[in-house]
Amino acid sequence: MIDFFSMKKFIFVSGGVCSSLGKGVAASSLGALLEGRGLNVRMVKCDPYINVDAGTMSPYQHGEVYVTDDGAETDLDLGNYARFTSSPLSHANSITTGQIYDAVIRKEREGRYLGRTIQVIPHITDEIKRRIHDVSNESPDNDVVIVEIGGTVGDIESIPFLEAARQMIHELGRNSALSVHLTLIPEVAGAELKTKPTQHSVKAMQELGIQPDVLICRSPAMLDDATRRKIALFTNVENEAVIVSYDVKTTIYQVPLIFHEQKLDQIALKKMGVETRHADLSAWYSMMDKFNARRGKVRIGVVGKYMELHDAYKSIYEALFHAGLACGVEMEIVKIDSAKLEAAANLDEAMGDESGVPVDGVLVPGGFGGRGVDGMAQAAAWARTRKTPYFGICLGMQVMVVEWARNVLGWKNAASTEFAHDTEHPVVSLLEDQIDTQMMGGTMRLGNSESRLHEGTRLKEAYSEAVIHERHRHRYEFSNRYRSDMAASGLIISAVTPDDALVESVEWPDHPWGVGVQFHPEFKSKPTAAHPLFTAFVKAAIESSHRGN
Ligand code: GLN
Repeated sequence: MIDFFSMKKFIFVSGGVCSSLGKGVAASSLGALLEGRGLNVRMVKCDPYINVDAGTMSPYQHGEVYVTDDGAETDLDLGNYARFTSSPLSHANSITTGQIYDAVIRKEREGRYLGRTIQVIPHITDEIKRRIHDVSNESPDNDVVIVEIGGTVGDIESIPFLEAARQMIHELGRNSALSVHLTLIPEVAGAELKTKPTQHSVKAMQELGIQPDVLICRSPAMLDDATRRKIALFTNVENEAVIVSYDVKTTIYQVPLIFHEQKLDQIALKKMGVETRHADLSAWYSMMDKFNARRGKVRIGVVGKYMELHDAYKSIYEALFHAGLACGVEMEIVKIDSAKLEAAANLDEAMGDESGVPVDGVLVPGGFGGRGVDGMAQAAAWARTRKTPYFGICLGMQVMVVEWARNVLGWKNAASTEFAHDTEHPVVSLLEDQIDTQMMGGTMRLGNSESRLHEGTRLKEAYSEAVIHERHRHRYEFSNRYRSDMAASGLIISAVTPDDALVESVEWPDHPWGVGVQFHPEFKSKPTAAHPLFTAFVKAAIESSHRGN
C-alpha cells in the first residue's frame, strides 16, 4: 500500500448531457492509469434502477449480465472494470437502488431505526455510503475506490447516489474525494463543436452541491486550447483538468493512453495529494503495438438471438477481439441471427457475411428461451460437418449435445427440457434434485467453480492445466443418463466437476476444433491477457481459413 496520510481516497464518476457516453470506459481507464501508478484500485458501479440485480433484466433492455466469481449477476460495466483493471469484483462492487431500499426496509422491519421516520436523507444515503466504505475497507491495502454513478445528472433516479457522493466529498474533504464528470461536446452542422451542453451539465452538478474537479469531454475530435479554456472558465474547473476523450479510430483500449497523454493520472494524484510516481503503462503500450502489428483478418460468425444489440454479447465480442490481438489478426465479427437460419434456403450463404463468403469459425454464445435454438443447432451441424472451428458457450455447448443426439445418434426429437418438456430424449435437462425447486422459481448455478480437464483434449491443450476455475450461469445440464451413449458414439467429454457429477465440456472427434463449455470464459478475458480458450479457437479458425475451408 502507498502511505499517503493513510487516507482512503474516493473518485466519483458521473455523467451528463446524455447516456452512452462511455462512462464505464472512462472510469475503467482512470482505474487502469492509477494502477499503472502503483495504487490499489477498487471499482464500484451504482445503478439507479430498482431491480435488485441485473439477473432478471432482458439483454435487449440492458445488455449482457456480467457474472462475478461469487455469482453476482451484475451490470455489464463490471465487465469493463475486469478488462481494464485488476480490481477484484464481487457482490460488493455492484450497488443498485433495489439493494439499497431492500436493506433499509429490512432494517426498518427489524426495528433497527428505533422508531425514527425513514427518509432518503439520511437513511438511503447512509446505506449507499456504507456500501462504498465497505469496499474501501475490505482490505487495508485499498488505496482508491472509483465509484461510477449510472444514469445522467438530472435523472430523478440517480439523485440519492449523487447526494451520497456530495456528502462524502464534504465529509472527507476535496483531497480525499474527487468528482470526475463526463459530458458530451456535440458537433453541429458546419462542423462546430459546442460547449454549451457541458456548461449546463456542470451547472446541474453544481445545483446538487458538487463542483466537478475533472471534466472528461467526449468529443468527435481533440479540442483546441481556446475551447478547453472556455470550458474551464464557465465551469470552475482548472484548464489542465479539462480532459478530452475524442473518438478513437483504433480501439477503446487506447483510451487510458489518451488520458495519460493529457496527464489525467498526474492531475488526479495531485488533487488527492498523492506523491507523483513513475507511470508503468507498458502493458497498454505493448497491447497497442500488437494492435498496430496485426496482419490479415479472421471472420468469426457469432450465432445468437440478440443480434441487434451489440451490448447483449459484449464480453463475447471483446474476448474475440482480445484473441485476435493475441493471434496477430484483425477480428471481423459476423453477427448471424439464429432465428433467420431456421428459414435459410442456403446454409453456406447464411453462415457468411453480406457477400455470402462462409465464416472461418462459429461461436454460439449463452442464452435463455427457445427462440432461435434450432437455428443454433443448424449452425453447429454446419460447423461439425464442414469441419469449421466451433466454440459453444453455455447454451452453445448444450446445442452441441442436442445436435449430436439428433444427427449422429439419430434421435430426431432430442432436445433440452428447457425448450421441450416432454421430449423422448432429454439430453440436456435439470438435475434430478433440481426438479422440485424448479417448481418454486428455479435455481441457477452461478459463479466460480472448479473443473477437471481430461488428458488429450483440446481443452487441456488450450489451458495447459489440469484444474481450472470458471464462472457459471445456467440451470440446465448435460444429462448424465446419456453419458455412455454420447461417449460410445464418439462425443468427447473433456471436463467434469471434481466429483465427476456434472459434465463441463464436450468436444467433437475428428474435427479441427469443436469445443463446447458449460461455463463462461468470456468474463475473464482481457486485452492485455486474452483468454486461452478464445485464443485456441481463433487460432484454429485462422488455420482453417488458410486451408480454404
Ligand atoms: N438456458 C440455458 C440454461 O439455463 C443456458 C444458459 C446460458 O447460456 N447462460 O442452462
